Amino acid sequence: MKIARRVERVTPSVTLEITSLAKRMKEQGQAVVNFAAGEPDFDTPEYIKEAAIRAIKKGWTKYTPASGLLELKKAISKKLEKDNHLRFSPTQIVVSSGAKQALYNVLQVLCEKKDQVLIVSPYWVSYPEMVNLAQARVRIIKTDARNNFKLDKRALLSNINKNTRVLILNSPGNPTGCVYSRGELEEIAEVATRRNLYVISDEIYEKLIFEGRRHISLASLNKRIYKRTIVVNGVSKSYAMTGWRIGYLACVQPQIIKAVSNLQSHSTSCPCSISQMAAREALTRTKNSQIRKMVKEFQLRRDCMLKGLGEITKLSCLKPEGTFYIFCDISAVGLDSLTLAQRLLKETRTAVIPGVAFGRDDYIRLSFATGMEQIEEGVNRIKGWVKSYGIHNRRKDIR
Ligand code: PMP
Repeated sequence: MKIARRVERVTPSVTLEITSLAKRMKEQGQAVVNFAAGEPDFDTPEYIKEAAIRAIKKGWTKYTPASGLLELKKAISKKLEKDNHLRFSPTQIVVSSGAKQALYNVLQVLCEKKDQVLIVSPYWVSYPEMVNLAQARVRIIKTDARNNFKLDKRALLSNINKNTRVLILNSPGNPTGCVYSRGELEEIAEVATRRNLYVISDEIYEKLIFEGRRHISLASLNKRIYKRTIVVNGVSKSYAMTGWRIGYLACVQPQIIKAVSNLQSHSTSCPCSISQMAAREALTRTKNSQIRKMVKEFQLRRDCMLKGLGEITKLSCLKPEGTFYIFCDISAVGLDSLTLAQRLLKETRTAVIPGVAFGRDDYIRLSFATGMEQIEEGVNRIKGWVKSYGIHNRRKDIR
């Protein structure tokens, strides 16, 4: 059977593989600790659910405009102004079925063969596949823990060539939890404007940021970078709404907005009408204090997980400044990330994501979007396993 080459090349997601194995084990009654989750464990707030029920009852059950409901776009426009000091009119916004679709759409619209897209590694697993599906070229820029996994000006400059068209930037970043400061963003903005790059700024974790730090949107730095940035965001992570599938992009270039809307009109027609009404409620009715409460809880969990992992001599991690992930260096254990993740799951019933999915085979990603007891239990299991694996291996070496 012939499958189109551009799709055949798409690699199956290791993330989903591990997650579905963990799920199956749980269904079989095994006490799995899940550190693989890419979503908040909190339920969607009640007032948002109520808004969806009202929307159904009032008949918001039909197609909406392809680029989304005006009511929602107005709410997004206000949110961008209030939270990010960004002025985008509703006509400069396209609502999609998740930030994922917004990212997919904009890459389809901006890139074609020979165009090069810069991706900062460790990266979110879907970026390279999306670039491949746009038939553009992926160029990975490696960063390392010494620099908090952040892209700097020198690395950026040395990876730009005449075909480079787009840079994808993700702050707060999945999987490392790194958050770019204003100064760091200014350096990137300066290079991007000088070298005529478009920047796709994925800000989906903007609210999940610790120690009272503030998220800075790249586009808000100055007029020149504002014109070159496509801001991508959504309601999945900040409002515990991953299953509702609402994300959006904002951009001042009318051609980009028009092309994204056209593309979307022939793929999904429009995002789900009911979810759009729920997202509007989330954006207009959620109080900052509610978000702060959620972030405070995540911060406690992060600290608990970090403390536990810190006691395992063969593992080392940086303190994430945002997101709900810890990216953990496993190089001293002596196993590749997939083998380690598979063995942890099978032998300790603890699910983690192998770093190879994010371009680093010497790391694993642990999500602390789970209860405190689970965190303590899972970390203890890992601790026990790493210790006994070390002893077992040493014995083998001696023999
Ligand atoms: N960007 C990043 C970095 C993510 O981690 C995710 C979700 N895992 C998304 C985008 C997509 O989010 P959504 O649910 O809105 O499609």
